[in-house]
Parts: sequence; structure tokens; C-alpha cells
Amino acid sequence: MQEEEFQSGKIYCANCFHCKLLPGSEGGILRIRCTAGKWKKKLEQEKVYRLCTIMRRFRDECEYYEDMGESTEFIRELRKSTNNEDSSTKSS
Ligand code: SF4
Repeated sequence: MQEEEFQSGKIYCANCFHCKLLPGSEGGILRIRCTAGKWKKKLEQEKVYRLCTIMRRFRDECEYYEDMGESTEFIRELRKSTNNEDSSTKSS
């Protein structure tokens, strides 16, 4: 994520305690769920997102948000570590 893409004052789901990686990956794609149950499809089924989508997903507010640290720094480090994870997943 480029610094200029980061929206200050917004809530990034990737920086929330409730944003969790699903075990395993389909075709090397990492998927994420919100353990607070805030991501739903039309018929109330749970929705999951790709990690790359969540890195850019932000909201104005969320009553369940619990930050994992300063957003810009946290997401930068998360992106670095998941890029390394993607590389190792693809090479195995
Ligand atoms: S609790 Fe809210 S901020 Fe946290 S991951 Fe779910 S929707 Fe995003």
C-alpha cells in the first residue's frame, strides 16, 4: 500500500483484532473473515474477502473495531509479511 493511498481518520479492517485469516488457502489465495460477524451477504450468510481486498478496505466507523496499533505502520508490516507468505506459498 502506498502512503498516499492511506486514508487518515478511517478504520481499516486489516488493523482490527476481529479481522482473522482463514486456515488454508485456495490456490494460494489468502482469505479473511470478520469474527465480529460484520461481513454478510444478502441472505445473512457470512462473507469472506481476499487479503488483498482487505488491505484497502476502510470504514468511517465500526462499533466492534479494536485496533492492533497505529494503522499505517501495522498495515505496512502486515503487507510485508504477507508478501513473504505469498512467495513461500507459491514456491512450495
Ligand atoms: S469488527 Fe468492524 S472494523 Fe473489525 S474487521 Fe469487523 S467490520 Fe472491520
